[in-house]
Amino acid sequence: MNEPSRSSDSTRITVLHDELAQAGVRTVIGTAVNSAGLTLAKSVPVARLGAFHRNGMGAAGVWHVFCADGDIACTDAIGAVGDMRLRLDLDGLRDLGGGLAWGPADFFAQSGERDPRCARGLLRAVELRLANAGLEARVGHELEFVLVAPDGSALEDTSWVPYGVTGLLDREGFLADLLDATAAAGIGTEQVHCEYGRNQFEFSLPPVAPVAAADAAVLAKTLVGRAARRHGLRASFSPVPFPGGLGNGAHQHFSLTRDGRSLFGGGDGPHGMTAEGGAAVGGVVRGLPDVQGLLTGSVLSGERLAPGLWSGAHACWGLENREAAVRFLRDGPGNPHGANVEVKIIDPSANVYTASAAVLALALEGITTRAPLPAEVADDPGALTEQQRAASPVTVLPHDIGAVIDVLDKSSLARRLVGDAIVDTTVVTRRHEQTHYAEKSPEERAELFRLAWSV
Ligand code: GLU
Ligand code: MG
Repeated sequence: MNEPSRSSDSTRITVLHDELAQAGVRTVIGTAVNSAGLTLAKSVPVARLGAFHRNGMGAAGVWHVFCADGDIACTDAIGAVGDMRLRLDLDGLRDLGGGLAWGPADFFAQSGERDPRCARGLLRAVELRLANAGLEARVGHELEFVLVAPDGSALEDTSWVPYGVTGLLDREGFLADLLDATAAAGIGTEQVHCEYGRNQFEFSLPPVAPVAAADAAVLAKTLVGRAARRHGLRASFSPVPFPGGLGNGAHQHFSLTRDGRSLFGGGDGPHGMTAEGGAAVGGVVRGLPDVQGLLTGSVLSGERLAPGLWSGAHACWGLENREAAVRFLRDGPGNPHGANVEVKIIDPSANVYTASAAVLALALEGITTRAPLPAEVADDPGALTEQQRAASPVTVLPHDIGAVIDVLDKSSLARRLVGDAIVDTTVVTRRHEQTHYAEKSPEERAELFRLAWSV
């Protein structure tokens, strides 16, 4: 793709600026997600829109290694010296109302080169790798969160019916504001419901191209945070907001097409998969252990990964199987967006861009290497007896996250697919969490990080 010429770019900036200013926008926020899954930002007065886009705002190298506890995990390569530029991408710019606009941003070096630690840049590169292979992906995110008091404490125990209407009415004002805000921001929310956990809600976003989908997930999280504040609440996006309870997932659905034809429907394989679709699923299942640290890498992630919590803790695939890390959804009237694959193990402490990039890169690797599709797991693997489990090829993905991070660090596959820069920054921030918090009690840990991944 050609870069727009400087004059067409400046015309575009002028038009956008005037539109925003006329609509009453005063502040423009540009966000980026770092290796610890934190959403970071710079903001500018609307008059500086062009500067934010063209030259970017300064950001210290340590942005990449800010940890979930607010500390910095410096490395030999990242410390007090040096600067980057955070550049606003005008394609994703949205007026959020109330004088605020938002857009996604990318990291660049001072020299103007793309920063290899930029997760959004990685996902863009993976989208390009797919395009070069003649493939197009669509990704749809699900956001689960638990409403809490502004200080992060649990809300008073009101009655809670999982998937009930009760919570929809108790939080009617908040949910209506959220739906209004997502509609105004151009996110076509698919549905909202009360989840199984107390005060837990979920809303699903429609499938779009991978970078746009991850941008929408960040924007949606921002809108949840904004609507929650207006109602005297906060939303926890922690994998385990309260110990012993149900966790928050950040499931990602993806579909792939070649020449407009789905790889997951209309084929001769199981449930209509084509040979390439089967290889994509095979590639994801095969590579999960290598990239797990990018999907469930925080110090709280392991507690969510127990069988029976529908977090997809088993390293297998199965049709509509909620205990499988890779859940297949076949073509049919029940699936208006067509057949797709849901990766369930991802949680909201992950960097949403990196997680998508890792999953899609594994799918592409599966296709190019013709990965075998393992046997389907049709039943609940969590219900196996010890004996059956010992005889079964299905393994539970590890919940010892320290070991998961060690695997990521040593994985040549993960390093090849997402690059050393992203693996190294992820390893350093997640090891910081392990060093300081792995020995804490589950209660203390959950409380410390309850709002760490919130916006
Ligand atoms: N809350 C579950 C998780 O941690 C997911 C429940 C569901 O939507 O299937 O992933
Ligand atoms: Mg759910």
